[in-house]
Amino acid sequence: MTDQETTRSYSQLDIAPTAAVILGLQLPESDGRPIDLAASRGCKNVAIIIVDSLGYDLLKWLLPSLENMRELISGGKLLRITSVSNHTTPAIASILSGLLPRHHGIFDKAGAKESRILSLPEIAAVSGQSCAVIMEQNGAEVYQGLIETVHGISDRIPPQDFDREACRLTCLALQEKPRLLVSYFIGIDKSVHMGLAREGIKNAALIIDRCIGEIIRAADEETLFMICGDHPIHAGPLKRNRGPYCVAMILAHGRGHK
Ligand SMILES: [Zn+2]
Repeated sequence: MTDQETTRSYSQLDIAPTAAVILGLQLPESDGRPIDLAASRGCKNVAIIIVDSLGYDLLKWLLPSLENMRELISGGKLLRITSVSNHTTPAIASILSGLLPRHHGIFDKAGAKESRILSLPEIAAVSGQSCAVIMEQNGAEVYQGLIETVHGISDRIPPQDFDREACRLTCLALQEKPRLLVSYFIGIDKSVHMGLAREGIKNAALIIDRCIGEIIRAADEETLFMICGDHPIHAGPLKRNRGPYCVAMILAHGRGHK
């Protein structure tokens, strides 16, 4: 990391530009800028893992229980990054496009399907790169027919089943060594909306932590993982009511063999 990098603040808008540099792609436009990280040297593939509601403070609270994420941070990096929306769909659109919500204009699931904005998986696919997206059904449908591997999972199944299925499909997709992979985990957010107390949220996070451990061991060291939240907790007793609204981002390499 350069001196300049240690003093600058980071945003979700920087994720797509950073991934674009690693993949050798040009984003048509972007509100963010690439993070110049020593961690990304030697990487040619990118895996963006979005963990719904993984606020920065929440991760700090959970971390003593999260063995795999702790290990990743000790060998990689944990950044506190600004969240650009308090809602899932616009935040994910910003993560994948590098654009502010007012620039990508995607505020709900219908908007995501109608949007003409090109996001990172589409840009990568147009350039002939192999991509995999594992997401909630509606989000995945946006990419159907546009990229190589698309897996949609119904959010009507129990959240722990959703996350285990996302883990299984992500590990499966990694066997094909995609240049770009995007995967999504729902359990923490669902437990918040189901009104579960701290223990329930922690249990959901433990499942996701185990999934991330499996996933990281299914990818080789040329894959840079960007594990990030979409927004801080936006409901229930742990809801964040005042700024700064920040989420966690863990940067780490795959731990499997080539
Ligand atoms: Zn969300």
